[in-house]
Amino acid sequence: MSRTPLIVGNWKMHKTIPETVDFCLRLKEELGAAVGPRVAVAPPFTSLLAAAQVLKGTSISLSAQDVFWAEGGAYTGEISAKMLAEVGCRFTIVGHSERRQYFHETDEAVNKKAAALIKEKLIPIVCLGETLAQRQEGAAFAVVEKQTRGGLEGLAVKDPENLVIAYEPVWAIGTGQTATPEQAQEIQVFIRKLLEKIFSSPMAREMRIIYGGSVKPENISELMAMADIDGALVGGASLQADSFRQIIHGAIK
Ligand code: PEP
Repeated sequence: MSRTPLIVGNWKMHKTIPETVDFCLRLKEELGAAVGPRVAVAPPFTSLLAAAQVLKGTSISLSAQDVFWAEGGAYTGEISAKMLAEVGCRFTIVGHSERRQYFHETDEAVNKKAAALIKEKLIPIVCLGETLAQRQEGAAFAVVEKQTRGGLEGLAVKDPENLVIAYEPVWAIGTGQTATPEQAQEIQVFIRKLLEKIFSSPMAREMRIIYGGSVKPENISELMAMADIDGALVGGASLQADSFRQIIHGAIK
């Protein structure tokens, strides 16, 4: 088994262009050439080009936070996969719970977005996870199954490196209440079994399933010690170069 850990910083709607440049310069300096895990940052659309210019030639990749599925046309305000590829993105987050909650993104939309990204050779990071109420009702597995199947079925994934799943329990995002390593592992091994059914066993064994929800320097090592946690999607703690760097170093299994 050879799943390279992946740490992605999701900046959400934070950082101006000068702040992006400062952060990327610092990260580049502090991480040096040998990082260990694969690392990506996901700035807002307006900062992607500036980040790409600073990170060019480094091992740090660029991710977008969203995409629209059409190739082009009259879709005011939207951005296509081709545009993201052109600016230098390697990854794109889709189906983040904030987009599901505030912008009513459905599993069908997530599926179409992921398919559009794959077509342009970009790697979708498909986010899914249950709310607190769903967990308390005992529906966590059913919700995760619906989102996994709805978001992933039919995707033309040829190489397990080319799709990433991010399990992000909604109750753990931005709350400081991280899932225990055992809670995350329990769901992530379940997701891997679903991936076997959707794709194939060899594919599922090699695909990265990362965890997101209040990941910090203090808890990354214990999360990464779990067999089915292959990295992290980091929100708040990715906004400071220091804490992001500590998470990256702490992620080496
Ligand atoms: C996220 O936005 O995907 C996230 C996990 O945020 P936080 O780390 O702040 O909980």
